[in-house]
Amino acid sequence: MKELDMAYFGGIETGGTKVICSVGENPEHIVSDVNFPTTDPPETIQKVIDFFKPFYEQGDLVSIGIASFGPVDLNLDSETYGYITTTPKPGWQYVDLLGEIQRAINVPIAFDTDVNAAAIGEQSWVPGNRSLDPFLYMTVGTGIGAGVISNGVPLHGLIHTEIGHIPIPHDWGKDPFPGFCPYHGDCLEGLASGPSMNKRWGVQPEMLSDSHIGWELEAEYIALALLISIYTYSPQRIVLGGGISKHRGFHQSVRERVLKMNNGYIQSSVLLENIDDYIIAPKLGNRSGVLGAIAMAKNLMENIEHLPTL
Ligand code: ZN
Repeated sequence: MKELDMAYFGGIETGGTKVICSVGENPEHIVSDVNFPTTDPPETIQKVIDFFKPFYEQGDLVSIGIASFGPVDLNLDSETYGYITTTPKPGWQYVDLLGEIQRAINVPIAFDTDVNAAAIGEQSWVPGNRSLDPFLYMTVGTGIGAGVISNGVPLHGLIHTEIGHIPIPHDWGKDPFPGFCPYHGDCLEGLASGPSMNKRWGVQPEMLSDSHIGWELEAEYIALALLISIYTYSPQRIVLGGGISKHRGFHQSVRERVLKMNNGYIQSSVLLENIDDYIIAPKLGNRSGVLGAIAMAKNLMENIEHLPTL
């Protein structure tokens, strides 16, 4: 493993609006970093390749992790493994993101969703989180999504978790907004993403005053989603990130509602006495995803090292 100590890992986070690329060993030692807007696939992917090419040609780049907006195909046996699939983002349906990068940069590449990568980042690089498993990361911003780490790896399956699109209780009397998810209408994302707040109230969420009813409603929906996630996955810690979660007092408001809705049912002291340490803000700020991608690249090499030789 000695040679790995000097190696650089690449991290790519492709988001709906911007792409972040980073090269380094760990969060304390990043040697280069860039971000640019997500435009059409050929231009965007070329910029990613151009960023990594010098490191690759110098032989400094050992592996890459890709954290992509989704839905993506994570099934290794599928012909479209590594593709972005049915995204509503124009031009990005069925784009072979992994393949395009792999053909230009021939190093091992790990591929996962942006939220799974963010979960890996917060769990891998934040010392207090490392032993906590299952571990859940939820982002509430332009979209809503969550990644669940279970037994040390992100939970995959039929595709991957889609917590952003779960149906949640919708009190039409209190909230007549029909939601705007193109698939489900009033699913979680349809009711509680940043764009849905914008559509419901007619202004950007950050323009709503602290006392606006919209923040109570938002905290209610996110608390419902977290309670469902707590009962479903039994996470030992939840990181709640994304632009909406940065609103002042939002975490506290969500914590109070989770406790109230739980109504004493789960009797863990972690929840009942230490909820401030149970539902927390990201420690890596806006870098959870890209640093998680670097952790994915590192983990990939460690797993390859440990494969039995035939
Ligand atoms: Zn939906």
